[in-house]
Amino acid sequence: MKVTDHIKQAQSTLFSIEILPPLKGKSIQSIFDGIDPLMEFKPSFVDVTYHREEYIYKKRDGGYLEKVSIRKRPGTVGICAAIMNKYHIDAVPHIICGGFSKEETENALIDLQFLGIDNVLALRGDSIKSEPEFVPEPGGHAYAIDLVKQIDNMNKGKYMDDDLADVAPTNFCIGVAGYPEKHFEAPNMISDMRYLKAKIDAGSEYIVTQMFFDNAQYFEYLKKCKEQNIIVPIIPGLKIITTKKQATTLPKIFKIDIPHELLLQIEKCKTDADVKEVGIEWCINQSKELISAGVPCLHYYTMGTSEVTRRVASKVF
Ligand code: FAD
Repeated sequence: MKVTDHIKQAQSTLFSIEILPPLKGKSIQSIFDGIDPLMEFKPSFVDVTYHREEYIYKKRDGGYLEKVSIRKRPGTVGICAAIMNKYHIDAVPHIICGGFSKEETENALIDLQFLGIDNVLALRGDSIKSEPEFVPEPGGHAYAIDLVKQIDNMNKGKYMDDDLADVAPTNFCIGVAGYPEKHFEAPNMISDMRYLKAKIDAGSEYIVTQMFFDNAQYFEYLKKCKEQNIIVPIIPGLKIITTKKQATTLPKIFKIDIPHELLLQIEKCKTDADVKEVGIEWCINQSKELISAGVPCLHYYTMGTSEVTRRVASKVF
């Protein structure tokens, strides 16, 4: 079922999660172990992130360094199929522009269609570590909007090869990312909002936000979306802080702010166990306020910490 249909049919705020594929070599059991404790809260859908290749240098005999391409977290599509098979809930694979030609994207989407997957989150992806800025694959997409257009075309039965006869249109519900604190590359918020609006006009039907820790940022974002006439559901993404280190790493990685009051509470903690309690309490309060404001769904970035998500969900749902 489509994410937008879940939202249309909901009587109250929905619960959903995002998970990461396990590191290469680990079993899928780690995914099930993360989802099992959350099933009592009936997640409407589970997003599975996509991780592109990275380049590392391996020392070879004779001391020379060989540049090797590796994907540390493969398995997005397989995990989606396994989740749907085991739990009978919808899985939402993340599809990125980076590393894919348009044809590879088309073929990946055909795989998803054959697996009965109804939803995709369409993203550009970040630059790989060895590149200072995002470089599209030759023959690939430069921005998420181009990917949205390709998926929307397939939904209309338009594949890359015009000569295909009797094509079956796909029927994907397309989600995109939004940034209440601005995407870090955008010159300003107005520019970022215009490109967001363009992604919606191109065929995406809902937005999932980057994590934020100050609900005021999200409420302000809703206003800005309204000004741009963006009327699709805007699902807030929430992350529970569990370590002191995250107070500095999350802003660096995700280009978001930690509110000063939260930072003060974290700084007072003696151990990470104390930080976890602060993070859980903060997220419970954020969640409750968002539910009171009538958000369609609360989307938790579990990042391998389903125990804390379970503690938050048990107080909120
Ligand atoms: P875009 O919408 O393409 O925007 C990128 C930047 O370009 C923005 O600054 C925008 O303002 C600007 N822009 C957009 N269109 C144009 C245009 N036509 N001309 C000029 N400028 C333009 N990354 C992964 O690799 N895997 C994942 O699974 C993943 N999941 C994510 C899930 C969520 C909910 C979020 C919020 C992010 C996720 N990311 C993931 C990270 C994401 O790929 C990065 O944030 C990336 O830098 C931007 O992706 P986007 O889809 O928002 O890009």
